[in-house]
Amino acid sequence: MNFEIRNAKIITACGNKAVTDYTLDTFTANIFISNGQIVAVDSQNRDVDFFDASGLIAIPGFVDPHTHIPFVGERSKEFIMRSRGSNYADILKAGGGIHLTVNDVRKASVDDLVTAGLKYLGWMLKNGVTSVECKSGYGLDFENEIKQLEAIRSISTLTDQNIVPTFLGAHAVPPKGERLFFEDLKLMMEEIKERNLAEFVDVFCDEGAFSVDFSREYLSYARSLGFKLKAHVDELTNNGFGKIASMLGAISVDHLAMCDDSEIDEMSKNKTIAVLLPLTSFYLRHKFAPALKIIDSGVPVALGSDFNPGSNTFYSPFFTIHLAVNYMGMTPAQAIVAHTLNAACAIGLGDKAGSIEPGKRADILLLDVPSIDYIPYMPTNEIIRTIFLNGEILENRNSLSWKNKK
Ligand SMILES: [Zn+2]
Repeated sequence: MNFEIRNAKIITACGNKAVTDYTLDTFTANIFISNGQIVAVDSQNRDVDFFDASGLIAIPGFVDPHTHIPFVGERSKEFIMRSRGSNYADILKAGGGIHLTVNDVRKASVDDLVTAGLKYLGWMLKNGVTSVECKSGYGLDFENEIKQLEAIRSISTLTDQNIVPTFLGAHAVPPKGERLFFEDLKLMMEEIKERNLAEFVDVFCDEGAFSVDFSREYLSYARSLGFKLKAHVDELTNNGFGKIASMLGAISVDHLAMCDDSEIDEMSKNKTIAVLLPLTSFYLRHKFAPALKIIDSGVPVALGSDFNPGSNTFYSPFFTIHLAVNYMGMTPAQAIVAHTLNAACAIGLGDKAGSIEPGKRADILLLDVPSIDYIPYMPTNEIIRTIFLNGEILENRNSLSWKNKK
């Protein structure tokens, strides 16, 4: 299908690499879309059907580079306990924590995971999230980690959102201990590579999770098999693994609430993307990552949700951007670039998504707002007038209508 979005005020980052200057280009133009792709952004009126988007702002669809979809079950009891002052040890004693989700996921079928995953992805899509990273990590054994990745593969055929699969087998240490588990993880990674079930391998390196020595060996092994790397680092405590992950060539290092200068320096040298997850800091009432310090050091920053059943159930990019601006000191432009182009680059989609330019997927949001300052100021998806996903119109809330070519 060929059509144009005419007269929109386009506000977008440019290029296919993560940026550190956070420039947003602003101009009024027509966007010519053919077969799901942006073909041209210019002033021509072609002989095709069109939308008149006069008075609306067009931005790229949001990219969420860090979620824990798919999962089943829920942990509201643990949330209420935490809200009343219980600590993690109390929650574990009461049967909560990640192992509750692991039990639920082990009992679930692939279809159960697909159904739950599509539900949450649908919620995200209503908030303009057109590309999403999905992780395993609630199976913690061969059968159930593979099952989650099979569910992600199936999900990616059932939604037009861009889905990027990540293997997070090293999410929690099972009772056998990390050394013995390593042998299982190697077999899983070999199978996953063979069947091309994941692009990235991720590890949770922190107190109460995997050790620095283990994480180094594990990511090195993943790299030797040809996986791209990610790591959960400095969420709860600082252990310096951000530096090591960056030296190993990780595409992104995520969380970083407790990061130190030597990690930031190394990430800056290697242009490792810092994926910051302020919704989790907010949900757990933890410290926010030092976004401005990371930005000032020349590290490209991306924003994501960390949507998961335990430590954060928010998923709105509008609220993430609100927190980035209001609690982490980022400008609206920095936050938007971080949740579009830089987020796309953090999951290997820099060529496909994250900006409104010829050659990219036509994932575009039309916003009914006077300026982009409204995104953090009025952080609701109600400001979206229309969503274009992969060149298809998805939501058209009121007066915007097709105009026939003349
Ligand atoms: Zn996470």
